[in-house]
Amino acid sequence: MRKLACSLFALVLSLATLAQPKADYNVVPLPQHIGQLDTTRHFTLRPHFTIAYTAGNAELERNAEFLQQYVKELTQMNSTTVPSGKGVKADITLQLRPAKQRTTQPEAYTLNIDKKGILISANSGEGIFRAIQTLRKSLPIEDCQEVLFPYAVIDDEARFAYRGQHLDVARHFFDAEYIKTFIDILALHGINQFHWHITDDQGWRFEVKSMPELAPKASIRKKTVIGRNCYSKHSYLYDNTEYGRGCYYTQQQMRDIVRYAAERYINIIPEIDLPGHMVAALSVYPELGCTGGPYEVWPVWGVADDVLCAGNPRTMEFLKKVLTEVCDIFPSRYIHIGGDESPRVRWKHCPKCQAKMKELGLGREAELQTYINKELDRFLTAKGRTLIGWDETLEGGLSENAVVMSWRGYAGGIEAARQHHPVIMTPTGNCYLDYYQIKGESATQPLGIGGYLPLSKVYGMEPVPEGLSQEEQKYIWGAQCNLWTEYVLSSDHVEFMLLPRLAAMSEVQWLSPEKKDFKAFEKRLQHTLRMYEKFGYKYCTKYE
Ligand SMILES: [Zn+2]
Repeated sequence: MRKLACSLFALVLSLATLAQPKADYNVVPLPQHIGQLDTTRHFTLRPHFTIAYTAGNAELERNAEFLQQYVKELTQMNSTTVPSGKGVKADITLQLRPAKQRTTQPEAYTLNIDKKGILISANSGEGIFRAIQTLRKSLPIEDCQEVLFPYAVIDDEARFAYRGQHLDVARHFFDAEYIKTFIDILALHGINQFHWHITDDQGWRFEVKSMPELAPKASIRKKTVIGRNCYSKHSYLYDNTEYGRGCYYTQQQMRDIVRYAAERYINIIPEIDLPGHMVAALSVYPELGCTGGPYEVWPVWGVADDVLCAGNPRTMEFLKKVLTEVCDIFPSRYIHIGGDESPRVRWKHCPKCQAKMKELGLGREAELQTYINKELDRFLTAKGRTLIGWDETLEGGLSENAVVMSWRGYAGGIEAARQHHPVIMTPTGNCYLDYYQIKGESATQPLGIGGYLPLSKVYGMEPVPEGLSQEEQKYIWGAQCNLWTEYVLSSDHVEFMLLPRLAAMSEVQWLSPEKKDFKAFEKRLQHTLRMYEKFGYKYCTKYE
């Protein structure tokens, strides 16, 4: 009888446990190591729990508040944050590792879950924040009276130091408020670099105080080509609708965004694309173009022949003025100067450019671009900054400190790594989120640039290509996906293109290759998708 009662009791207990909301550490990106997992024993978190942070450490206090907010969002459980100290018994404790236990990886962290509670320890505030994201993603998404955390020791650190995501706000504009939402999405996926493409032929999107007329004028496109550069009877077809009036960020807004991102341990790398992709600026300063214009903010998509005149000394003055303000707004060590898709046809026929080539003893127009890059490399280096360029910057020879972003496949990245330049891999075939994620043109997805990049292909990316020596492999600094917005008109569409492919990229960026497994990832992804729904992110539900 007693035996029966006991087993009945055990059954009831286990049923009760089954019904209780449980944390699941199989999140995206998967932590590198989930050890000592014991699903039969749990630490129970209940409403009004406490989160302790090291007394006097404002950074950890802020992190404790993030955690408090995240738990509330997903489970409705309230908590208090307290400085740790004698007599403080906290359910969750945030603490930095003692100096002698710290490793070199700033983002490495450990989550210890046992009968005493949840202990988050890390090398830095950044590591604490990454740990908090893992803990957050392990939570059930429902109103809870308690959450059971299975005992475990989770040890984690990112595979790559550079884990980026790009957004083009020049072709279509997304306001400052939405950029913060975008940054929230990046934080959820463990991204630490936001590559912000803020100028292009079709729009100039940031305030330059020394040239107050630039942004207000160059942000306005009088019309935009219909469809994918629709063309009829020798001319493009336009919508004849003005786009972009007032659509640029003030410096104040950008500083606010920089701070917002930094609190989430995301660095913002601004990109001023040059010497091509500059028609919007030329429309205000036609004297900076080889033909002298007139130019209008470009209403079509593609690569414009009109670029900055490399032979005009005022071009360099213009660029240095712009970059001075960029450096003032953005503390990022890395500044992107574009360098892609810059045709040399105008330079070939421009007396100023030809005179400059003669003066410098250059044999090819491509070297004019290298001349510009070298000049700006010196300029940025003197300011303690480092230049990043697209892989075309290799063509006339790289400037000394340049970082290369390899987009036309892997070849540029391989070449740059062999020359011992840091490389960010972002090949179109794995990383271009403007490509379709559902096969074929169809009613199930809005118009896109074309291509086909399903979730599995993003997941399958390997940033370190074969054929590099051990030494050369060290120059592969990381990977990122790019989101160009010629055909992306709304923030809903941004999210549709970004999610869930960003989740796949986050495992490329974070997880060791031998631990990657697409089938297991798809399983883990389901909880991530529920989280997107909870936050109102408009992800692609029919991903392939
Ligand atoms: Zn010229």
